[in-house]
Amino acid sequence: MISRFAIVLVAALCIHGIGPELRLASANHSETLVPIELSIGDAVINVSFEPGDLSLPHARVLNWVRQSACAVTEYYGGFPVRKANLEVVPVGEGKGVVSGRTVILDQTPVIRVGLSRFATDSSLQEDWIMTHEMVHLAFPSVAYEHHWIEEGIATYVEPIARAQIGDLQPRQVWRELVDGLPKGLPRPGDEGLDNTHTWGRTYWGGALFCLMADIEIHRRTSNRYGLQDALRGIVRAGGNMNDDWALTRVLKLGDDATGVPVLMELYDQMKAKPVTPDLSALWGELGVRPSGDSVVFDEGAPLASVVRSIMARRSTPGGACAEVGVPPGSTTNAANFLTFEAAP
Ligand SMILES: [Zn+2]
Repeated sequence: MISRFAIVLVAALCIHGIGPELRLASANHSETLVPIELSIGDAVINVSFEPGDLSLPHARVLNWVRQSACAVTEYYGGFPVRKANLEVVPVGEGKGVVSGRTVILDQTPVIRVGLSRFATDSSLQEDWIMTHEMVHLAFPSVAYEHHWIEEGIATYVEPIARAQIGDLQPRQVWRELVDGLPKGLPRPGDEGLDNTHTWGRTYWGGALFCLMADIEIHRRTSNRYGLQDALRGIVRAGGNMNDDWALTRVLKLGDDATGVPVLMELYDQMKAKPVTPDLSALWGELGVRPSGDSVVFDEGAPLASVVRSIMARRSTPGGACAEVGVPPGSTTNAANFLTFEAAP
């Protein structure tokens, strides 16, 4: 995946939504001023198309929104908010999804996504921005100094959520972590995640926090729970982007859901001072071996079961998205990913 985060600077927050019935005008290139209501479970996403030309039919765009919403629904066990507005803005340049941003307006999350008029089916299939924005919906708004956790969760969860519905191959997920996480390591002068607001520390430093937390929760609970369960617990407790909550309150809720205080402990370690894990050693323990532009999973590694557990679908699926089909050629069964071959 090429420069997943090259354009992310414009994308700050979140959104999501999706709905089932896509039997609208199939190739309508003109603007749709009346929002189209998509539903997933008991959530409603109102999708509107701003004026402008798109090569893709609106129905295809709506399917993409739905697929992203289903990834988030699967990961969190439900769509994280009851209502969201989604604005698709045709852009006269670029190739695919060119920007994303989520804000709260009148107590409703609004996701605004820039879509190139030249976007194709494969642009949407490869896109990460829509799911990233929707993941933002599943975490309370926290103070600016903690922005790293909002972006870190979106960065870390998005590919895993997509892999759990068969939209991305597990080896791609881990290859991106191998490539991306070094950008999140502290540089000289770093004062911890709460005090170092660089792009690398915000997106990938936050993702590093998530991976370390995920591994540790799995270790301490013998793979019974992971970060996914902590994040589900936060949403279950009513936490979502519509709320302004103290970070420690949110983290404690996550810890309560897993029974181990990993999030608070890790936050105390990383908030005000640089923490530099040995990533090479970590990949070795996890059994994630870079190979070409992919990775190979080593089933004999000490923490191989943690990787398998992180990628596995939960026993309580999103439900409303159970009917989501598996795209041709994708690798669906995350639990079997250790048998995958490395990409050529
Ligand atoms: Zn973001």
